[in-house]
Amino acid sequence: MLKVGMIRCQQTEDMCAGNTDFKVAKEGKCAFEGIGPVEVVGFVSCGGCPGKRAVMRAKTMVERGAEAITFVSCITKGNPIGFPCPHYTSMRDAVIRKLGPEVKIIEWTH
Ligand code: SF4
Repeated sequence: MLKVGMIRCQQTEDMCAGNTDFKVAKEGKCAFEGIGPVEVVGFVSCGGCPGKRAVMRAKTMVERGAEAITFVSCITKGNPIGFPCPHYTSMRDAVIRKLGPEVKIIEWTH
């Protein structure tokens, strides 16, 4: 089972507990369709705008077993208020540069 570390938007922590992210991960649905059920080994926020802290948080999750990093849909789709992260591509690209190509990046959850 793929081990996944999830990064969420700190700005939406007080309006969403992340239930659906855990549900689709457990059921292998939505972003995990084709991968199957995954094990969530970490669920952290980006650390606040502009998302620089996400880089070391992603690295820490990989050091603790994550084989993939998922940017949760509050970041990339703007759930639940239709307001995607304006810093997403910079944050994602910095994470990729730090982790290298062997860590899979998943860009949404549901
Ligand atoms: S950087 Fe993006 S994901 Fe992080 S708190 Fe700001 S808007 Fe949310």
